[in-house]
Amino acid sequence: MNKLPTVLITGASSGIGATYAERFAHRGHDLVLVARDKTRLHALAARLRENSGVTIDVLPADLTQPADLAALETRLRDDASIGILINNAGMAQSGSFGQQTAAQIENLIALNTTAPTRLAAAVAPRFTQSGRGAIVNIGSVVGFAPEFGATIYGATKAFVLFLSQGLHLELSPSGVYVQAVLPAATRTEIWERAGVDVNTLPEVMEVGELVDAALVGFDRRELVTIPPLHVAERWDALEGARQGLLADVRQAHAAERYRRP
Ligand code: NAP
Repeated sequence: MNKLPTVLITGASSGIGATYAERFAHRGHDLVLVARDKTRLHALAARLRENSGVTIDVLPADLTQPADLAALETRLRDDASIGILINNAGMAQSGSFGQQTAAQIENLIALNTTAPTRLAAAVAPRFTQSGRGAIVNIGSVVGFAPEFGATIYGATKAFVLFLSQGLHLELSPSGVYVQAVLPAATRTEIWERAGVDVNTLPEVMEVGELVDAALVGFDRRELVTIPPLHVAERWDALEGARQGLLADVRQAHAAERYRRP
């Protein structure tokens, strides 16, 4: 029997990433767990090895640090056993746009956009060459909701969706599967880390429910999986409107309404 691909999960020390780790271990996949908190990663790895008998490697890394990111890129390029990349590590924004320092802006963009892009770029040539592999990017419904007020966070998540759609177009002809998962509010530490009490939110999905739904989309090879979206046709309509808009973009001349009388 063919061995299942190893899954490399970023942000595996808590929340959605730790739950992906549990689910993939249960399915029999070996894992590479990435995050900053070594102690938590080792504790999770020990528990999953014990329960599932899979092989688990712990790779502590701060994805905003160039040397750590470069080491991870090398691992993804060179380790042919890794066949699934879960780009999950991310952080939310605390405070309004006007309250952000330069360092906070840099950090948020580095973790939520630069890191997943570089990791996908590191692994894509190998996946393309072997004609298989999967890249899962965790976005957010905030990526199409500027109304939610988390402007930079939302912009990073809009980036993740676009990145996934573009990667799908470029890589799927070679047999590589790309999925964007867009959760809404989910009960994890991300809220507390951003200074928000999750219990003050009117509705929250439990993290197990979110990841199980995301894996239904994964198993169906869906490009965009939005577990909290109850009317799937809404997404289809948005995609249809986008295609319609593109059909009406004509490059040679400015539209009538922009011509001076
Ligand atoms: P979480 O429990 O806070 O998990 C975030 C993970 O990212 C942790 O494992 C954390 O581990 C890791 N991480 C943070 N900074 C890092 C860094 N500089 N380098 C490496 N790893 C880092 O939050 P979560 O909700 O599971 O978040 C996972 C993803 O889901 C994020 O991309 C988030 O934007 C997205 N999301 C979450 C929600 C929600 O409501 N929870 C909604 C939509 C989208 P260490 O601290 O050990 O590094």
